[in-house]
Amino acid sequence: MTARATWYLGVDLGGTKVSVSLWSESPGGAPARAGVERWETLPGGPGPNVERIAAAAGRLLGAAGTGGKAPQPAAIGISGGGPLDPERGVILSVPNLPGWVDVPIARILSERLGVTAWIENDANACAVAEWLHGAGRGVRDLAFLTFSTGIGAGLILGGRLHRGARCLAGEAGHQVIVPDGLPCGCGNRGCLEAYASGAGMARRLAPLRERDPSLPSTAKEVVERARAGDRFSRDFLRETAEYLAMGLANLVYIADVERIVLGTIAAAAGDLLLAPLREALARRLWPPFRRGLEVLPSALWPELGDHAALAVARDLPGLVGR
Ligand SMILES: [Zn+2]
Repeated sequence: MTARATWYLGVDLGGTKVSVSLWSESPGGAPARAGVERWETLPGGPGPNVERIAAAAGRLLGAAGTGGKAPQPAAIGISGGGPLDPERGVILSVPNLPGWVDVPIARILSERLGVTAWIENDANACAVAEWLHGAGRGVRDLAFLTFSTGIGAGLILGGRLHRGARCLAGEAGHQVIVPDGLPCGCGNRGCLEAYASGAGMARRLAPLRERDPSLPSTAKEVVERARAGDRFSRDFLRETAEYLAMGLANLVYIADVERIVLGTIAAAAGDLLLAPLREALARRLWPPFRRGLEVLPSALWPELGDHAALAVARDLPGLVGR
């Protein structure tokens, strides 16, 4: 590493996991991850996690230093799950995590570490990372779908990140696909997320397991068993693809994107999910919308969360005019 490298800190802040990564970028080269620390999100609200983030950042920078001198990062990027206000740097809430309400995380971490900090919704951050460095390269109209416990979309429209009037655009997981359907964590019923997300898949599995306890109980188990050839799990992924296709067809009809990139579960399941998804989507879309439409897994997964946090520090300031 030369002294001319630029350094960035990334914080991927989720409801279940926190990851702090340090990146260096030499002139003319691509950013490389110099170190990472991860843990399960600590209980007790933001306090204990902020302490641990600051300590982890200090350790990573110390380990990267030469001659006893730690590098000075250009910026910290925070990619956060749940609704947040990127203009004020405030987390409004984190799904399933009590105590995380109106947390000015950018200011807190900026003061603790003496570095400018930016925050962005994780779906937007992932969309930018995939668009510039992953499976979204080369298009101007892209939808990225986070697809793990919950579902959210990041939209690149006309070559720009579309944040919306309140920076809340892309809550695609909460479009209703079944009137008065299964309850969703958001309080509504019949949301896409209540059927097709990791949490939704577990909810659909629960009543089936009451009759047959040998069935899988989580999305992860379904994917593992489907890969091993299990008939039930393959059919269950096909059914999940039908639900997903409803939501994605709505997105395509509204935004006319040319590529859809899907995160975690799709990246893990590959064509066991994506093949029936492409087929179901084609059935739902008018022919002109199908032309050139691509549905791809994340190219940056399983390191996508760290790449997304890096994109918030490195790429987003230029994209949103900071
Ligand atoms: Zn919902």
